[in-house]
Amino acid sequence: MTQWFQLSDTEVVNELKSSPNGGLTWQDVESRRNVYGYNILKPPKKKSAWVRFFLQIHQPLIYVLILSATLAMFLGEYIDSLVIYGVVLGNAIMGFWQENAALKGLAKLSQNIKTTAHIIRDYQNMAVDSSELVPGDIVLLHSGEKVPADIRLLQSTNLQVDESPLTGESVPVQKENMILPKQTVLADRKNMLFSSTLITYGCGKGIVVETGTQTQIGQISDLINNADELKTPLTEKIEKFSQKLLWLIVAFSVLAFVVGVYKRLPVVETLMSSIAMAVAAIPEGLPAAVTIILAIGVNRMLKNNAIVKKLPAVETLGSTSIICTDKTGTLTENKMSVQKIYSAGQEVQITGNGYKFSGYDLKTDNQALIKCLITGALCNTASVDEQERIEGDPTEVALLVSALKYQYDYRKLKEQNPTVFEIPFESQYQYMACLHQDKCIYIKGATDVLLPFCQKEMDENGNIVSLDRRRILKVMEDYGKQGLRVLCFAIKPNHFSDKITHHDIEDGLIFVGLQVMIDPPRAEAIKAIKTCHQAGIKVKMITGDHLLTAKAIAKQMNLQDAERAEPNAMNGSELSSISDDELFDKVKDIDVFARVSPQDKLRLVKAFQSHHYIVAMTGDGINDAPALKQADIGVAMGINGTDVAKESADIVLMDDNFATIEKAVEEGRGVFDNLVKFILWTLPISFAEALLVMVAIFFNLTVPISPVQILWINMVTTILLGTMFSFEPIDRSIMKQKPRKSSKSILSKGISYRIISVMTLMTLLGFVAFYVSQSFGADILQARTVVVNSIVFMGITFMFSCRSFTLSAFTTGFRGNKYMLLGAVSMILLQILFTTTFVFQKAFKTVDLSACEWGIILICSLILLSMIEVEKFVIRRKK
Ligand code: ATP
Repeated sequence: MTQWFQLSDTEVVNELKSSPNGGLTWQDVESRRNVYGYNILKPPKKKSAWVRFFLQIHQPLIYVLILSATLAMFLGEYIDSLVIYGVVLGNAIMGFWQENAALKGLAKLSQNIKTTAHIIRDYQNMAVDSSELVPGDIVLLHSGEKVPADIRLLQSTNLQVDESPLTGESVPVQKENMILPKQTVLADRKNMLFSSTLITYGCGKGIVVETGTQTQIGQISDLINNADELKTPLTEKIEKFSQKLLWLIVAFSVLAFVVGVYKRLPVVETLMSSIAMAVAAIPEGLPAAVTIILAIGVNRMLKNNAIVKKLPAVETLGSTSIICTDKTGTLTENKMSVQKIYSAGQEVQITGNGYKFSGYDLKTDNQALIKCLITGALCNTASVDEQERIEGDPTEVALLVSALKYQYDYRKLKEQNPTVFEIPFESQYQYMACLHQDKCIYIKGATDVLLPFCQKEMDENGNIVSLDRRRILKVMEDYGKQGLRVLCFAIKPNHFSDKITHHDIEDGLIFVGLQVMIDPPRAEAIKAIKTCHQAGIKVKMITGDHLLTAKAIAKQMNLQDAERAEPNAMNGSELSSISDDELFDKVKDIDVFARVSPQDKLRLVKAFQSHHYIVAMTGDGINDAPALKQADIGVAMGINGTDVAKESADIVLMDDNFATIEKAVEEGRGVFDNLVKFILWTLPISFAEALLVMVAIFFNLTVPISPVQILWINMVTTILLGTMFSFEPIDRSIMKQKPRKSSKSILSKGISYRIISVMTLMTLLGFVAFYVSQSFGADILQARTVVVNSIVFMGITFMFSCRSFTLSAFTTGFRGNKYMLLGAVSMILLQILFTTTFVFQKAFKTVDLSACEWGIILICSLILLSMIEVEKFVIRRKK
């Protein structure tokens, strides 16, 4: 393997037959792709399908079932034994299928987060998917990006890289173009950038030397895939709950067996009944069902443009009580266009919206204005063409467009006066500066940051005169109050060094003008804010923009808390000067935080969390990572966000839109709601089956349902009825309710009460069906067939009833969830087969039923439905 770090940059370029300015040709790329393949890491090692299948059987309860089936076989109960084996197999297949569906859905998620590489190919700058890189490609590197392959550096400006994904060392490493000796260890190879590490500062240019599995990270590890994780706090809670329940139920089952034997009931039958009772009552399918419901929620969110990176986020989303969002691009369109330019005391209007510049032929003699346009074009990293195809930050594109409208073409300007050194834009400093060959530094940035560094200003004739700072601040404030975004432009000529530092910018600048942009609020975000307020969720704007601009936009969008007519705003300078305690006292009453530094974002998250809010926080920059990690839900921007932010977030928005966060919260609430509905439905049925057996044994009655029949109900109803809860559409009123407290137990008082009452009623109705059918002449087998069917039919009506806790099943309707209807119809058909066909009759000891007996079954399910309807009515009346 070539040791690239030992070679000079020219040797590397020659060896790889590339060109630093032109890159590879398309032909080169194609032929190299055939040799090296795509730049992708090995997919993660997964448990094989067989292992995952057998893990479904690897559960204490299933062992008990297998043991009892084997026992039944020895005791000559061949059919029972076969049925139980069948149930074990059926359960395993079902679990395996469910898990597969969940995993498949989640695996797709990680593919949606793409890393883009900015490269030069065939003398053109372009952005491509990182997977398309081949050795020899020339890559432009910027802070915030993930390094897409192993790269030998050709040029760099203050380039720093966080190599912790590779070396574990989290302090960023400075990178430079140099030749290194043979013995240099990986961590000290300063002229190399390694795939999957993160650029935290500066910019540079390099050449791809290794791709895919040949990269350092590719050699040591498989792709890290978080989405594989199916456990969430909720599934863990439920697993613990199931385990506790398991011991209780096992104790009862043992007791039932002992009592049965003591009462001289047939030993084998009592044993089987006790086991069946345990199987019935233990909600073994619950964690799997919960995972499925969560996974389906994740996929629904994906359809709404939100990529959930970590499954637990779905749950947390549902209880979000505050959304801290940035402004530019999330609440606003991020389609900037310069409307006005203020230079040398004069304001000019620029017509047109969007990025169209052809057809404009604006002219001016104002020398300051010309300098302002040229500064905007030179101090710029974006590009735009006649077809309005843009590359780069919309703020920067708007500046290229305004210059182009005056016939100042940034490409020509840069050709005539190339960049020598650049300080890239960082939110932390709020400006960008670049030194050009004419020995002049061109600077653009936030007005309140740059104006204090300006001592002079350029007049319309190009003379340098003293600066009227007050006048400019006043003009800027007027623009801000209209919600306009203002950028300040300055120059510093006669800089004879070939480097610049922040120190050089802090003094002696010449002000040349302001460019004022419009960035209209997104209509859908205004609606989404309203929905959030109705849902008891507060929305806070945390922006890097000026306080007045931010406040004006907040007002236009009605972002403030309902009790305030005007939004309250706090500036970043005040925020960083107050103590954490003061912040704690004030934070709730502020709607807009402007000019916020990333460090203060973190303090804000903590302050809201100490008020017990569940905080969702958006971020896009490199320095936002700590705040994103601290927030309960870190939300990164998919389009304009840095790779660093995406790595730290729980959710990535594919469209950078606030409305998508609101939709995701809605989905989160919906998912939780469906989970509760499912639990409310499944527990009473399981407990009622167990109670039927237990009561019978304790009171020396004939057991009204046989063990294999219980197994049948458990297996079939979960598949055909239970799973359908995951397809429940979101309740329309869900965003009119207050956020759920995450500390609150899943089973509220009302729900627990409903579970107990339905369980009791089902048990009673089970016995009623058993005895009433016997009083009409049925024998034990017939009566048991009636009981099994009654429970299943009660399960069906109860399922429809669970669609709402308070609304009548007749209001919510039976057709709202197609899958549920389909499940119910299939279940009914299956029960008819179960009751009437020979094979089922043989296996499950069922018999044909008379019309009267079917009548009993129907009446039982209608009684259950009406009793719940009465309870719901009482609850509604109380409310
Ligand atoms: P938000 O935080 O809501 O996304 P923002 O884009 O204004 O809003 P930052 O990106 O942190 O926030 O920018 C802070 C300020 O820096 C801006 O208000 C603007 O004055 C200035 N600025 C933004 N983009 C650039 C840029 N590309 N070059 C120079 N200055 C910029």
